Amino acid sequence: MSFAKLGLSPALLKGVAAMGYAQPTPIQLRAIPLILAGRDLIGSAQTGTGKTAAFGLPLLQLLDRHGPGPRLLVLEPTRELAAQVETALHDYARFTDLRIGVVYGGVGYGRQLDTLRRGVDVLVATPGRLLDHMERGSCRLDRVRHVVLDEADRMLDMGFLPDVKEILQQCPQPRQTLLFSATIPPAIETLIRWAMRDPETVQVGVRRSPADTVRHVLYPVAESQKEALLLALLERVHYESVIVFCRTKQGADRVAHLLRQHNHAVAVLHSNRTQAEREQALRGFRDGRYEVLVATDIASRGLDIADVSHVINFDVPLHPEDYVHRIGRTGRAEARGEAFTLMTAQEARYIRAIEHFIARRIPQEQLEGFSYRYTTLLDPSQANGQSRYTGGVRGGRIRGGYHFSPGRRRR
Ligand code: AMP
Repeated sequence: MSFAKLGLSPALLKGVAAMGYAQPTPIQLRAIPLILAGRDLIGSAQTGTGKTAAFGLPLLQLLDRHGPGPRLLVLEPTRELAAQVETALHDYARFTDLRIGVVYGGVGYGRQLDTLRRGVDVLVATPGRLLDHMERGSCRLDRVRHVVLDEADRMLDMGFLPDVKEILQQCPQPRQTLLFSATIPPAIETLIRWAMRDPETVQVGVRRSPADTVRHVLYPVAESQKEALLLALLERVHYESVIVFCRTKQGADRVAHLLRQHNHAVAVLHSNRTQAEREQALRGFRDGRYEVLVATDIASRGLDIADVSHVINFDVPLHPEDYVHRIGRTGRAEARGEAFTLMTAQEARYIRAIEHFIARRIPQEQLEGFSYRYTTLLDPSQANGQSRYTGGVRGGRIRGGYHFSPGRRRR
């Protein structure tokens, strides 16, 4: 099946060819005809499935040509995603005369005001900054005919739902509304009933579990040795690119500082960084200037950072979905990947929820030659059945030293 058969215009087909896309992905195959037919659509698809083109191409086609606007509004939870989606839409539309603009917080208003004044057909925006522009009178939505709520569950998590509703109220009916979300919690269901009209659901590429091409490993460790174990892992592992995930911004900064002290080329991505710093970090990581990206969940969710060879969870994620999202950065497109999770006794209970969510157990290993301190997690007498993740950390080195062979599985 080719893009031509999906009924896209010659200009958009040229744009797709210039992107090097040979064939539509499954979500594109299913969503494009429905969107071209004017249907409202709920898409459960993760980033990496081609969902931007799945909504972007048909909606750009429906807009057809430059006119008074904006007529298409795309809401994104984070500025990185907004910038990324704007770039993609810009690329698809490069052989049309459609104008695409983006507004997000954390940067000055000047350029955004210029863009809005010149006029756009497509506006990609984060909710807060868009509302600012609306209040200042620099942006009106009365010509909007198509709305995309991207990563709706993340917008909910980040507390943007009231803003989203306020924005939708300004988008006139009749309109076409599309919503993408990895999960549909009750608040999103309510939003769907309120904002959408007889929506069709497309579930493609929904993967509760991460790719089969990823090898998962848990490394139990005492809290006091987490940093040492991370350094040892990075020394031992042959990686091309690695993302280290931390739970907090402060944690991410601390880990980045530690890695720099040990001569790793490190970039950091979290929401306290300025927009310029975040863009520079992403660019540097993509082009290989940085071998390690240290990131928090919020800052990294949904970003198109494909094909890292390793993901290391410095902290166990509290939400099982975040584990899947983190691990989704590796093992893409059939490439092999490895996902390591450092686990202290306090974090062990979250692993159970993750294992339940992904419906598999994650093998536990120890790094050979690493001089482990005692933690109940490493105590074979505690490592059976249900009790294995319930102990607390105690101080002191294990008598006689623990020596583990790499790859040795404890269950
Ligand atoms: P997305 O899920 O929209 O973030 O897309 C993930 C990646 O897949 C992006 O790098 C896209 O450029 C790429 N992509 C999207 N559609 C296709 C396609 N039909 N063929 C090849 N690559 C694609």
